[in-house]
Amino acid sequence: MTTTTSPATVEEREAILSAVREYADTELAPFATERDEKHIFPREALHRGGELGLGGIYVREESGGTGLGRVDTVAIFEELAQGDPTLAAYISIHNMVAWMIDTYGDDAQRARWLPDLVEMAEFGSYCLTEPGAGSDAAAITTSARRDGDEYEITGVKQFISGAGEAGVYVVMARTGEASSGARGISAFLVPADSPGLSFGALEKKMGWHAQPTRQVILDGVRVPASAMLGDEGQGFAIAMSALNGGRLNIAACSLGGAQWALDRAVQYVQERVAFGDPLAEKQSILFTVADMRTELQAARLMVRDGAQAVDDHAPDATMRCAMAKRFATDAAFDIANRALQLHGGYGYLQDYGIERVVRDLRVHQILEGTNEIMRLIVGREMLRPAGSASMRSGS
Ligand SMILES: Cc1cc2nc3c(=O)[nH]c(=O)nc-3n(C[C@H](O)[C@H](O)[C@H](O)COP(=O)(O)OP(=O)(O)OC[C@H]3O[C@@H](n4cnc5c(N)ncnc54)[C@H](O)[C@@H]3O)c2cc1C
Repeated sequence: MTTTTSPATVEEREAILSAVREYADTELAPFATERDEKHIFPREALHRGGELGLGGIYVREESGGTGLGRVDTVAIFEELAQGDPTLAAYISIHNMVAWMIDTYGDDAQRARWLPDLVEMAEFGSYCLTEPGAGSDAAAITTSARRDGDEYEITGVKQFISGAGEAGVYVVMARTGEASSGARGISAFLVPADSPGLSFGALEKKMGWHAQPTRQVILDGVRVPASAMLGDEGQGFAIAMSALNGGRLNIAACSLGGAQWALDRAVQYVQERVAFGDPLAEKQSILFTVADMRTELQAARLMVRDGAQAVDDHAPDATMRCAMAKRFATDAAFDIANRALQLHGGYGYLQDYGIERVVRDLRVHQILEGTNEIMRLIVGREMLRPAGSASMRSGS
């Protein structure tokens, strides 16, 4: 997998997906219920995914990554999520971090972090959200003050996936005045062992139990000036550009979870007898699964369209990724929820796994930008005068 270049040929793509499917079938699916129940973050199983190339799926080959394009990447995330949507989603966030370092880092930053990140011997976290700044991410107040050859970073990051487990934190912090908005934000690579860096308690969540979510607390954390990713003032644009891929990946994770739930439902309605016949013989049930399959396919095509837009560096890529994320995460949650309904009371039991997938997919409508923010991006892009630049556009 590590030698493949993008776009992969049909044969290469099939070989990659088959290896990913085997990984999902052996390392993720059999343990998904236990990891959910016991809140286990499986570092070793993820590391074995790193050996397959899953830690740097769209990191360039010359940087040690797998070098695939986004159309191939979303197909991989869909396969992974059929094994476990929560861990697939964490691998997505980790890949965002690796891609940011590959794309915006200098040689020294790439050499320091990418080998371990690509192999998932080390993990990455993306730190944008704060207690007072979620959707309005340009309002962050975490500050980074220059002091000689160093920056001193102080602030609190909220809801950080992988916090406490990751070895490197990409922290967006304000280097400009409070009034400087998005253009006063810079990105920093903060190692986990930095003095002054600590973590909040494990958040108790509805789903996503197999990966930790915590606050990241920066209390006078000093990093060398060389820890800045990209240029001063470029941090917000870097953070937004990574989100195009992040939104596609999360959408693909939703597709995988929904496909898994739909497959279970199709099997169940053929086996379960009610009023003398299998449920599948009732036309309303048949129509339900037909609609679920149709809506899933429509969502899949939208995700592929967004991925193609990023691969093509299309000027409307951000809008197409936002449309895909909104549509696919809403559709997939609905499909998984209908799969639960088709199982009747059994769908509500932990043993069948469907309730876990419903819980896990719910947050995909909230993070990487809520689905309301996706509508804002699409609507604003539609109304934007032709030729004017958007801070949110990226690749
Ligand atoms: C489990 C989990 C993991 C996460 N992981 C990470 C991570 O790794 N890194 C990270 O940086 N962040 C992470 N997040 C944060 C996530 O991205 C934010 O929760 C999300 O962006 C929403 O921000 P908020 O929670 O502050 O909600 P708010 O921004 O306060 O929004 C509240 C509601 O108002 C709506 N709203 C807000 N503004 C508008 C508007 N202008 N028009 C219409 N509606 C609006 C929202 O859509 C939402 O419904 C994670 C969140 C969760 C729950």
